[in-house]
Amino acid sequence: MTAPTGPTAPTGTDGRDAARLREALATVHDPEIRVLTIEELGILRQVDITPDGRAHITITPTYLGCPAMDTIRADIRAAARAAGYPQATIDTTWSPPWTTRWIGAAARDKLRAAGIAPPAPAPPPGPAPPPGARLLPLAATAPRCPLCGAADTTELTRFGSTACKALWRCGTCGEPFDHVKEH
Ligand SMILES: [Zn+2]
Repeated sequence: MTAPTGPTAPTGTDGRDAARLREALATVHDPEIRVLTIEELGILRQVDITPDGRAHITITPTYLGCPAMDTIRADIRAAARAAGYPQATIDTTWSPPWTTRWIGAAARDKLRAAGIAPPAPAPPPGPAPPPGARLLPLAATAPRCPLCGAADTTELTRFGSTACKALWRCGTCGEPFDHVKEH
């Protein structure tokens, strides 16, 4: 009898293996917004390792029917396999529903640096508005030009290069740019 050699399957059930796997999965990029990862977008919700050493991953799609989700699932599977979890299960949760407000400040800077106008910023925390107060709809906020910072921008097409982006044009520098729509 010889002891088995070679890499052994991860058997740890403490949070460290899950944290390591989460780091590996956090490198998966969104196919439609390539500058951001699924972690930065908030798509990656939970990563667990089951007692028998399997990866259990929970994601929240950005919106119903997003054509990128099949690619994202395949990329997550490949990243899990590369991290030593060939039999990962991926669950989808719609609650709470995804919103562009989950995109953090650093990720918004990345979008701007790539010439893409980020969605409107999340409202500052504060007391709830009084009953009957008229809430400003998110879409009423025109994005600033990510190239020159000007505020005089106009929407050209509600559906741009992908369904989650609209095409806008800057009235100052004249350049068209993508805008990740509020959602
Ligand atoms: Zn401009």
